[in-house]
Amino acid sequence: MTTYFDNAATTILDPALQDEFWRLNQEVFANPNSIHSEGKKAKKTIENARDFFAQYLNCQSNEIFFTSGASESNNFFLKSYPCDLVITSPAEHSCVLESAKASKNPIHWLSLDKHARYNFAELEKVISENKDKKILVSIMFANNEIGSINDIQKICELKKKYANLIVHSDCVQALSKIKLDLHKLDIDSISASAHKIHGPKGVGLLYLNKKSQGILSLKNLALIHGGGQEQGFRSGTQNVMGIALFAKAIQIALEKNYSQKVYELDKYFSDKALASEDIVLNNPSFDKIPGIFNLYLKNCKLKKEELVLQLDLNNFCVSSGSACSSLKGDAQIISSYVLRAAGIENTIAEKSIRISLSSFNNTQEIDNLFKIMQKLSANFATL
Ligand code: PLP
Repeated sequence: MTTYFDNAATTILDPALQDEFWRLNQEVFANPNSIHSEGKKAKKTIENARDFFAQYLNCQSNEIFFTSGASESNNFFLKSYPCDLVITSPAEHSCVLESAKASKNPIHWLSLDKHARYNFAELEKVISENKDKKILVSIMFANNEIGSINDIQKICELKKKYANLIVHSDCVQALSKIKLDLHKLDIDSISASAHKIHGPKGVGLLYLNKKSQGILSLKNLALIHGGGQEQGFRSGTQNVMGIALFAKAIQIALEKNYSQKVYELDKYFSDKALASEDIVLNNPSFDKIPGIFNLYLKNCKLKKEELVLQLDLNNFCVSSGSACSSLKGDAQIISSYVLRAAGIENTIAEKSIRISLSSFNNTQEIDNLFKIMQKLSANFATL
């Protein structure tokens, strides 16, 4: 049996969603924009999910827009928000990096610390030097390869001093693991995705506060034009089932306290790794989201993709970096751009793999993985 340790790439659909899946399939199939009773039922299903997210994230329901996923949400915001300067980090997910470049706005790339976290002093300096410009800051809440958490609150506080600032954050890896209070944060926009939290693929959200909505609508900027769904920002018949399951996935995670379980597994994994002679964590003792480990085997000569394949032969799914990088061939050719941006030596980065846990893993699986890693270290020892 395969053990799945690649939960930062995607997660298994929560088996507890199955009943809801079949119920929705049977009972809520109509077009949510039809005015008959079945249509109204579908619309109500979407609006209930929207209300749930508004309550969960502490914002207004009409600030939540459902999309096909976080790539879409990030693309829309980064490419359409009218600004003179984008400030972001080279450790963002590729959908933010590529959208920022595609926007053709000038970009300031922030330097990072060894955990791929942005440099606040530099951020404030750039903002103060560009006071007269409209600035968009886009920094992820938690990094998908190394798990580090960025202080987004501190960026949002700068808005009190600099009125020209808009703050967006990719919250994909943070959702459901860290409490996100958007009102308290006073953030302008966030993105999130269902398939990272045991929800279905192909559904996500974009939060836009009133201020950013105002600027986008003033310029008549919509992601998809058509029937005017999602307040005109994203036309097209909504994915009723996906949206409802997205909300339900969070509700189940709260009821079953999944995040606590991942915290416990994180501690178990971390203690084992720190006690091991061969395993070196690239992200050891600092504030990170639970469940993401970036590590290498000190005495093993295998490169990261060779190690991933060897682990696969032993029935463990792990990753050599962001799943999206592998589509571009990056994962096969070069070391992770996130690790490089964090200043990790190339000889280490090219050996480093990501292991990401979920509440569906257990300590026995972790023990088995460690045994196999030990075996591989011995079989493929550096000379
Ligand atoms: N942002 C981060 C941090 C991610 O980890 C991912 C998924 O790989 C995405 C964005 C893209 O999300 P989606 O697959 O929903 O487009």
